[in-house]
Amino acid sequence: ALVLVGIIGVAVIRAPHGRRSGKVKVVESRRSRSEVTLLGLMWIAMMILPFVSIVTPVLSFADYPLHVVPFFMGIVCLAFGLWLFYRAHADLGTNWSISLELREGHRLVTDGVYEHIRHPMYTAIFLNAAAQALLLPNWLAGPSCLVAFLLMLTLRLGPEEQMMRDRFGDEYVAYMGRTKRLIAGVW
Ligand code: SAH
Repeated sequence: ALVLVGIIGVAVIRAPHGRRSGKVKVVESRRSRSEVTLLGLMWIAMMILPFVSIVTPVLSFADYPLHVVPFFMGIVCLAFGLWLFYRAHADLGTNWSISLELREGHRLVTDGVYEHIRHPMYTAIFLNAAAQALLLPNWLAGPSCLVAFLLMLTLRLGPEEQMMRDRFGDEYVAYMGRTKRLIAGVW
């Protein structure tokens, strides 16, 4: 039930922001084929696999018993992850894109949850993926999202920061100087 809450929560939080930013014209896109493939993989790992493992017996060969410590750790990750996902969308506004894109009148956001870290939305997705691994006692459907997301993060962070540097120049370099990537004060 909690994994389903996470899946539905992410979709409900994103839907209005996706609609709003979809109305603002994209002026530059650096969407690559590998990124599209990884987004598809993320979708399978985050939505399809958990759903299949919860409502059908297809993946039951990989089930294991759920323990109380990971269960409570998962609830904490899920609650914090959903809150941060909501805040990041609220602060990014119409500058949000699912892919590497710049929109008309794109503004560099450096306040709210973007004040100390440059990628709060990725931190939030990481927490949601960790919650799925902790709450879904299935060796395939549990950690699948974490694996797909870490792969995506590795391939996306560098090109995204390069795109922002090319667009905002010294303003982004200065922002990089006073912030960390995913964890405030650490990395
Ligand atoms: N990496 C950010 C944003 C993810 S959405 C995060 O994790 O919170 C991806 C899009 O957001 C990128 O295509 C880029 O156009 C935009 N973006 C990333 N950082 C931004 C910022 N600080 N201000 C405005 N737009 C940003």
